[in-house]
Amino acid sequence: MSEAVLLFKELSAYLKPEDVAQLETAYQFSESAHEGQFRRTGDPYISHPLAVAKILAQWHLDAQALAAALLHDVVEDTTVTKEQISAKFGKRVAELVDGVSKLDKIEFQSAEDAQAENFRKMLLAMARDVRVILIKLADRLHNMRTLTAMQPEKQRRIARETLEIYAPIANRLGLNAVYEELEELGFCHMHPMRARVLTKAVKAARGNRREVVGKIQKAVKKKLRDAGIEAVVTGREKYVHSIYRKMLEKALSFANVLDIYGFRIIVNDAASCYLALGALHGLYKPIPGKFKDYIAIPKANGYQSLHTTLFGPFGAPLEFQVRTADMHKVAEAGVASHWLYKTDASLNQLQQKTHQWLQNLLEIQSESGDSTEFLEHVKVDLFPDEVYVFTPKGTIKAMPRGATAVDFAYAVHTDIGNHCVAVKINNELAPLRSELRNGDRVEIITASNANPNPAWLNYVVTGRARSHIRHFLKTVQYEESAQLGERLLNQALIPLKSSVAEVASILWNKLLRDCGVKSRQEIFADIGLGKRLAALVARQLFSLSEAAPTENRFPGAVLIRGSEGMAVQFANCCRPIPGDPILGSIKKGQGMIIHTHDCPIIAKSRGDPDKWLDVEWDNETHRLFDVSIKLVVANQQGVLARVAGTIAEAGSNIHNVSMEDGETSAYTTMNFTLQVRDRIHLAQLMRSLRRIQEVVRITRAKG
Ligand code: MN
Repeated sequence: MSEAVLLFKELSAYLKPEDVAQLETAYQFSESAHEGQFRRTGDPYISHPLAVAKILAQWHLDAQALAAALLHDVVEDTTVTKEQISAKFGKRVAELVDGVSKLDKIEFQSAEDAQAENFRKMLLAMARDVRVILIKLADRLHNMRTLTAMQPEKQRRIARETLEIYAPIANRLGLNAVYEELEELGFCHMHPMRARVLTKAVKAARGNRREVVGKIQKAVKKKLRDAGIEAVVTGREKYVHSIYRKMLEKALSFANVLDIYGFRIIVNDAASCYLALGALHGLYKPIPGKFKDYIAIPKANGYQSLHTTLFGPFGAPLEFQVRTADMHKVAEAGVASHWLYKTDASLNQLQQKTHQWLQNLLEIQSESGDSTEFLEHVKVDLFPDEVYVFTPKGTIKAMPRGATAVDFAYAVHTDIGNHCVAVKINNELAPLRSELRNGDRVEIITASNANPNPAWLNYVVTGRARSHIRHFLKTVQYEESAQLGERLLNQALIPLKSSVAEVASILWNKLLRDCGVKSRQEIFADIGLGKRLAALVARQLFSLSEAAPTENRFPGAVLIRGSEGMAVQFANCCRPIPGDPILGSIKKGQGMIIHTHDCPIIAKSRGDPDKWLDVEWDNETHRLFDVSIKLVVANQQGVLARVAGTIAEAGSNIHNVSMEDGETSAYTTMNFTLQVRDRIHLAQLMRSLRRIQEVVRITRAKG
């Protein structure tokens, strides 16, 4: 209990009394929810959320974040729901708890570097609110501090995850103190033996070197004082993990890692940093190539300092960091410094110089100066242009924001894209046009005979998907047009008592030469696409410039099967179906368009024989055709469901439906686009619909 008392004492120092009271309620709520649960360490479970809240209190985080910290495990580990938290502590707190729980569910699987980077980005992106990440980091920090209670194997797994995911996130957010501690704890649990040996060695070396450090510190202080620079000089022992890293990187033995002490000089302003540096370089010689100016060029996380390494008086290299007090605050607390030092105006100025990534956040802070407004904006996407989704095997794919299932399919493999028919997102069937969201698990369903649909071009966002779909459509259109063109040419050759197969090669070759094309296929495709006229090509083949066949140009109609693909399109105005009398026209570059005889759109030009080809339906059509019908129904509850049910029962699909209210609200007009086999099918369907009581009128819509 005393831990809780300590926490609330700390909170009272910077939060309003009513906020502290609310947090006490949250604490009691969490304690009773976790009643009877214990940690591995043997402590009651509540000790964990309490410790997490305590870490956040050190950063002076707001009341919402602290409430969420106290409650962060209740949804996951107890019977309490998100709604209950929302009702009791507010929507924002519930959202924060929910965010933390969601991150908990993602399990890090692969150790691959690229995967780890994506994971970090995904976690950041999913968190949306920076406070979620801060709570999560505090949660992980406390778990790492108490990791010894776990089985060794679990210790190593969690330690690895910490080193690969959470420590880099802390580093990225500029939370240096958390970063160092996570690194240190991670190293000690990942390599317990090595950590023990090194710790011992550092301890042994400490005795010898303490005196040396003291001497150096004294000398530096004096030098700075003489130069008139006000400064605080501290010497510190380096972390075991950083000594270990140095040994690994430089292949050194411990005896050769001399700089186990680092020095830090804190001065009043940026100019003094450079003055102090000059003084230092006057005291000891700098090691060439070791100087780094992170003040002029801050690190991505906003970190600023001057770094230099000097030849020490006893031959050991000495590392120095020189920075101002403000830079030091940012160096230690990073993004959390917003809460910690929010009154400090000069800090804003400093931070604005930092990298764009952190700047986006902080600019808002300086513009508004208001904490709630800042939070409103801190619901940032830290990576606003990307979403991260899982393949069924658990690999992460980064997709541009707005990417759909089709984009994802093409990102996995061109074949998957070309043959996708459906998608399961988080195990539920969804339309291919569905926009992907962070953390979605996406499984594409393919069919070997399926092909890209031109409609996909309306919603794909990746260049890759777009170009593959275009390429496919072009190739297919070419082939299908060539097939239609061959049939049209055959038709045109009948009056000449010939056919494509019967025309002699010599005539073909002459034609190809005359037209300057390489293959017959190209000629066929041109005819199919309407770039050449079949009758003209037929005459060219036989060089019949005289006596153009007139009235009997097309003695037989071209048969339409509906399987011609893109070479034959059915006009959207009248939507012809088998059984309808039809006309065809070749539109340049598009192939043949089929209309019904009575289509009002073509009424004017129907008399012009040059425009129209005689076409008929083939006896065999093996597909469904779109048709439009208009239904006027009485407004009754459930009428749409009854209509839809009847349509489905009749073996038809609804492609589209729209509704408009009539003059009186008693009637509604429904416009359906349905799929039917032919006129007989449509007639049966309309008969069934007429039997529905509420249906007042039903007509087929053309034009
Ligand atoms: Mn936890």
